[in-house]
Amino acid sequence: MNSAPALLILGVSVLFILGIKLLASPRTARAGNLAAAAGMLIALLALHHPGGDSVWSLGWTFNRTLIALGLGLGLGLGAVGAYSVKMTAMPQMVALFNGLGGGAAALVAGLEFRQPVHESEPIIGGSLLFAVLIGSLSFAGSGIAYMKLEGKLEKPLTFPGQKILNGLSLLAILGLCGYLLSHPSSSPAFLILGGLALFFGVAMVLPIGGADMPVVISLLNSFTGLAVAADGFALHNLAMIVAGTLVGSSGTLLTLHMCRAMNRPVKNVLFGAFGAGAGAGAAGNSDLAGRAVKPIQSDEAALLLANAQQVVIIPGYGMAVAQAQHQVRDLSEALGQRGVEVRFAIHPVAGRMPGHMNVLLAEADVPYDQLCEMEVVNPLMARVDVCLVIGANDVVNPAARENPESPIYGMPIIDAARARTVIVLKRSMATGFAGIENELFHRDNARMLFGDAKATLQSLVTAVLAS
Ligand code: NDP
Repeated sequence: MNSAPALLILGVSVLFILGIKLLASPRTARAGNLAAAAGMLIALLALHHPGGDSVWSLGWTFNRTLIALGLGLGLGLGAVGAYSVKMTAMPQMVALFNGLGGGAAALVAGLEFRQPVHESEPIIGGSLLFAVLIGSLSFAGSGIAYMKLEGKLEKPLTFPGQKILNGLSLLAILGLCGYLLSHPSSSPAFLILGGLALFFGVAMVLPIGGADMPVVISLLNSFTGLAVAADGFALHNLAMIVAGTLVGSSGTLLTLHMCRAMNRPVKNVLFGAFGAGAGAGAAGNSDLAGRAVKPIQSDEAALLLANAQQVVIIPGYGMAVAQAQHQVRDLSEALGQRGVEVRFAIHPVAGRMPGHMNVLLAEADVPYDQLCEMEVVNPLMARVDVCLVIGANDVVNPAARENPESPIYGMPIIDAARARTVIVLKRSMATGFAGIENELFHRDNARMLFGDAKATLQSLVTAVLAS
């Protein structure tokens, strides 16, 4: 390889790594996205050919037309998706895009595997089969994850013998891979392998509960990355190897991080069918049925807030649904002007994707130094005068700490219950994503402020400013 393409590959790799690094903070995430996108554009225009030939040096070939078409289509669909998707539907969009990436990696690998040139190269053949397998699995699994997050397939689908069936399909897949390595031109075996890989992707995700879908998407994301890296290995494309490895490793790390935040081992997410039981909604909390809660009105809540010294705001999925982040910032500023110390307690899995709350609060210009992680804020909670829970439910559920029967037992939570007063903003007594009741709402120090979070916060701001 001559030095010009090698330098370009280095530049592209640096842009990808820089992109991931900058994505780690909402402050720099936009720049990170642009850096990674620029890297991808350079990779596409300059490096698509194994010999290092650029699109421009190949002339106006069929490939060049296809690349231009793909680029235009991808840019168009990506822009429409990015502008039209609601923040609450972001995980679905990630699932869709990830699935398409996995499908593309599988198609590239499949077409390449069918080239006779690889017949005498079992390592290349093996990595292409790996990419077909993992890419198809990610494609099919992401499709099911998308449907679950859209609410089109709500319950985990389990049936007797399911694990045995999945185990047998996996064995058949491995057997077919072995066969294809020695008989690469066998079309029936190749087609059956593709079909089985798709089936396995569907079968793997069907029994997983909706609440675990973001973790599954992150895992499938890492699969897509590995498939792309395997493609890159077989095609001698270093940019694909770097991009695929980065996606594969960051997806794996994110999966582990999310599992730790929910205190659930990955195998429990994959094989636990969380939420399958009919009684999951009441698990361990059936004694709450009919127990009264204490409602509060905005004026009284505003008085409590305005006269507090320390307030902790805990945002959750409901804040995202209500798009109430700007009103939250207004309230925090109004309280700050009165000398109230306001902090935001951010749970790592509040909302529907990691960093969901950070992104929304950053969009509303809430200062970063007001955001506290769970570990920092929990020890301070006993001294907090008012804890304002805005559309959060599971992440403040004391059952996670106190009730070994609860499906979320062991998940680290924000200790809202220990504040002197807890004011909970939500529309009804409906459960959160995990589908379990929350005993916090029935505690003596808890008051329920019912209504849509945006409207309620607006009236709180008005009342605090007027007090
Ligand atoms: P929850 O889903 O537990 O609760 C959200 C609450 O918001 C509901 O109880 C709902 O009650 C309320 N709500 C909905 N719309 C509005 C509105 N317009 N105004 C006011 N309130 C509203 O959210 P949490 O953030 O507490 O927990 C996140 C859940 O997602 C956890 O179970 C977590 O494990 C799961 N999860 C998150 C991941 C992540 O990466 N973030 C990954 C995997 C899982 P009501 O309908 O009565 O208003």
